[in-house]
Amino acid sequence: MSQASPKIGFVSLGCPKALVDSERILTQLKVEGYEIVPSYQAADAVVVNTCGFIDAAVQESLDAIGEALHENGKVIVTGCLGKRSELIREAYPEVLSISGPQDYASVMSAVHTALPPQRNPLLDIIPDTGIKLTPKHYAYLKISEGCNHRCSFCIIPSMRGDLVSRPVDQVLLEAERLVKGGVKELLVISQDTSAYGVDLKYAEREWRGKAYRTRMTELCQGLSELGVWTRLHYVYPYPHVDEVMPLMAEGKILPYLDIPFQHASPRILKLMKRPGNIDKTLERIRNWRAAVPDITLRSTFIVGFPGETDAEFEELLDFLREAELDRVGAFAYSPVEGARANELPDPVSEELKEDRLERFMAVQAEISAAKLQRKLGRTLTVLVDEAGAEGAVARSAADAPEIDGLVHIADGQALKPGQFVQVVVESADEHDLHARLAQPLLKVV
Ligand code: SF4
Repeated sequence: MSQASPKIGFVSLGCPKALVDSERILTQLKVEGYEIVPSYQAADAVVVNTCGFIDAAVQESLDAIGEALHENGKVIVTGCLGKRSELIREAYPEVLSISGPQDYASVMSAVHTALPPQRNPLLDIIPDTGIKLTPKHYAYLKISEGCNHRCSFCIIPSMRGDLVSRPVDQVLLEAERLVKGGVKELLVISQDTSAYGVDLKYAEREWRGKAYRTRMTELCQGLSELGVWTRLHYVYPYPHVDEVMPLMAEGKILPYLDIPFQHASPRILKLMKRPGNIDKTLERIRNWRAAVPDITLRSTFIVGFPGETDAEFEELLDFLREAELDRVGAFAYSPVEGARANELPDPVSEELKEDRLERFMAVQAEISAAKLQRKLGRTLTVLVDEAGAEGAVARSAADAPEIDGLVHIADGQALKPGQFVQVVVESADEHDLHARLAQPLLKVV
């Protein structure tokens, strides 16, 4: 009789990029015959994939390690916080191993040491798509690691290194496998999607008998062949972003751009060492909207950056009013250990930061709500996330999972997750839309 498989508990923290790392590690664990269990008690050891982006995330990661140690005792730490191993060792000297992001080999070798694998070829059956932590119908597609920028508030390049792009054929093959496995929405992620391929000098590769360059536009062209939703995240407003507008206008990729602007004052952006030129941004947004009237623009901003004056904050609010972005996330600046921005003079007081954040969010809330109101009466194609006795919850082209709004379908009880349907919007609140099925069901993919 074969021995029982060793059991691993897995805690995944952090951003979508960390989630992709978790999926890779989980896939490898499954391939090697480990069983993934949902509780500390059932696990022989626990892997904690950490985040180290802001201080709150550092604390959350440390707490998660502490909890895993307390509940289980055998803990392997990986992910972004692993780059600051001294911090972890100081708090928890008993952790078995510490590795940084994307260091799958170190995680696996720590697992092998703690729990030698019991290989059983009958258990080695794994779907082509690997293990996904996202629901079956959407998946994050990581196109590169690292970043060539050096934004002064960010320590990601020091943790993840310079940009390393995955050749376009590899990405397209992965996307193809995901779609074959039932994925209906691909979420393209990286630290800087616009810079994709620059490190590979935009190398040309072949996919499905056709040449594609390792470059954002060409990647989008390839993905559009797959007949599912493609959504772009972390795009910087470089001129070549204009090239994807025709693909959006033709419905080949979703008319959606997630562009982290972070600020609108040229002086603050300079202090932040942000890529892109804000002067032309409003004009560019106007041109995008002329080409793709339905485009959804999402962004994130930091308020209260060191040295931000009242006038510069007002400049940011003016930008917000003019840009009329659809979705916006904002943070009060919080120093990240090791970031160069910490050395900047004139920090903004906590009180003022909170006050500015509140004002910022109030201005944007009105804009977002008004934009949703304009959707009343419209027919939209939505992708169903879940359905039950209360109806269904879906998302439109304007809603990325986790971060944007939802479309509640009151009469969607019979729908299935991963199904595309058309709905008519009946009402809207600050974030979400409420809709009914369009009669008849026009399109079910
Ligand atoms: S673009 Fe800036 S904020 Fe984004 S990962 Fe690179 S350095 Fe960090």
